[in-house]
Amino acid sequence: MFRLNKGANATHSGRLLYWTNIWTLSGDFLACNECQSTQTVRQAETPFTHRPGCSGAKNSANPWEELRDILDSLPLSPARAPA
Ligand SMILES: [Zn+2]
Repeated sequence: MFRLNKGANATHSGRLLYWTNIWTLSGDFLACNECQSTQTVRQAETPFTHRPGCSGAKNSANPWEELRDILDSLPLSPARAPA
């Protein structure tokens, strides 16, 4: 069974692997890998709705928020100032 890995000490790679194990991002929408239910980025503030019987329902109800948190935690260098 895939282990939950979302703690503060989880690696960026581990958190992304966990997220992509549950979700697939495609264009401006994402889909649950198990039930194929989808949600567009415009619905990001709405809790995700899985199809009946999907075991993914026990995961985060806000996949966009989770993805944003993962990307926000990346140790990127500051943007360069315009020349
Ligand atoms: Zn689902």
